[in-house]
Amino acid sequence: MSQNENQSPETQKEAPKPAAAAQPEAPKPEPEPMREIITPSNKEVIVIAEQVQGQIQTVTLELLGAGRDLANKLGGKLSCVLLGHNLKDAAQKLIHYGAERVYLADHPELENYRTLPFRRVITDLLQTFDPPPHILLLGSTTTGRDLAPRIAAFFKTGLTADCTELDIGPYEHTNKADPDKLGLYPGCLYAIRPSFGESLKARILGPWNNPQMATTRPGVMIPLQMDTSRTGEIREIPVNLKPEDYRLEIMEIVREAQSTVNLDEADVVVAGGFGLGGSEGFELLKELAACFENGVIGASRKVVDSGWIPYQYQIGQTGKTVRPKVYIACGISGAIQHKVGMQKSGLIIAINKDADAPIFQVAHHGIVGDVFQVVPELIRQLKAGKQLGSSVSQQKTLV
Ligand SMILES: Cc1cc2nc3c(=O)[nH]c(=O)nc-3n(C[C@H](O)[C@H](O)[C@H](O)COP(=O)(O)OP(=O)(O)OC[C@H]3O[C@@H](n4cnc5c(N)ncnc54)[C@H](O)[C@@H]3O)c2cc1C
Repeated sequence: MSQNENQSPETQKEAPKPAAAAQPEAPKPEPEPMREIITPSNKEVIVIAEQVQGQIQTVTLELLGAGRDLANKLGGKLSCVLLGHNLKDAAQKLIHYGAERVYLADHPELENYRTLPFRRVITDLLQTFDPPPHILLLGSTTTGRDLAPRIAAFFKTGLTADCTELDIGPYEHTNKADPDKLGLYPGCLYAIRPSFGESLKARILGPWNNPQMATTRPGVMIPLQMDTSRTGEIREIPVNLKPEDYRLEIMEIVREAQSTVNLDEADVVVAGGFGLGGSEGFELLKELAACFENGVIGASRKVVDSGWIPYQYQIGQTGKTVRPKVYIACGISGAIQHKVGMQKSGLIIAINKDADAPIFQVAHHGIVGDVFQVVPELIRQLKAGKQLGSSVSQQKTLV
């Protein structure tokens, strides 16, 4: 037994080892490049148009603006599908707003929107594409929200609703749980939308199948300038409806007078919040809105939920998205769900008693004060300014 073996473990000491000779490091193998997977597509970006009584809806023009950018990045065509009756002028308008091709289904049975006939015509058309179009865009409107999932389910493809941004980029799938899918997917649609109570922006991808689909809310994307010199092709497409497509019959259409709640098109929105204290406060806001050429009132959800004003006026995550030239927030705290619906307005003016109200973070001009003092003074000054303006122009006319 050696001396060391007689020692208790605590007292044993390791003899110092001679320093190991430095070994040259073996060269690391080059990581294998990811295989590129191209999901078959013809690179076409298609917008499903919306029209009411032959009038193309603004959301469609906005989608053409976003679609143009995606088509440029993909190097593909921008097209539009338009369904309805007596729509030649409307088809031309889509070309003036950037569509290179319009697939037109003009038929009396398509005059008013119904889910099954519209789904039939669109899926029939898309099935004729080989390979399929790359991207399909719809508005997050009542119609778009009804139609988009039907089309996505038909083609077993992904759909992201209520996007606030769209882009094109690559996706690397590295999850070894799907060995067949490992690889680099170029040219994916990045469908970007707020998530987790608006605290995060999620980028949602569906790279396995084309068309990749998304909806965007009215007022979020920016249309191209109308240009009547733009040219394009109008291609009539067949309408072959089946008996089962007629399950729903429209008995009557009651259209609400739009003029009072034309939030999407207004230049000035005067929006009221819980700080107004009751529905009567909106009378004052109407007076302020009337000082402007194209001014309307809007509201936060809390006042809509309180029954002070109908839902059509609600602005925000679960209401409308607006982008007026001027947005005047009166007695609105500026919760994130409200801000997402108005923060892209040209000029934001906020009036609030509380100097720390979050609405001031997005406002270009803030007035800390009581709406019932500030708004009447604004009205007085605007009216005085108008009178001054008209007397000046009268004098000019006299001269
Ligand atoms: C899933 C979800 C979706 C939602 N969607 C929406 C949406 O689409 N739109 C939306 O607006 N909200 C939405 N909300 C609600 C949102 O979170 C807020 O509760 C709401 O926006 C608050 O409304 P408000 O600012 O009018 O009221 P409050 O938060 O109560 O703010 C009132 C403000 O008025 C000020 N004030 C009080 N008296 C006066 C006075 N005399 N003069 C000046 N200022 C005064 C106060 O300082 C305060 O800042 C949603 C919430 C959830 C959870």
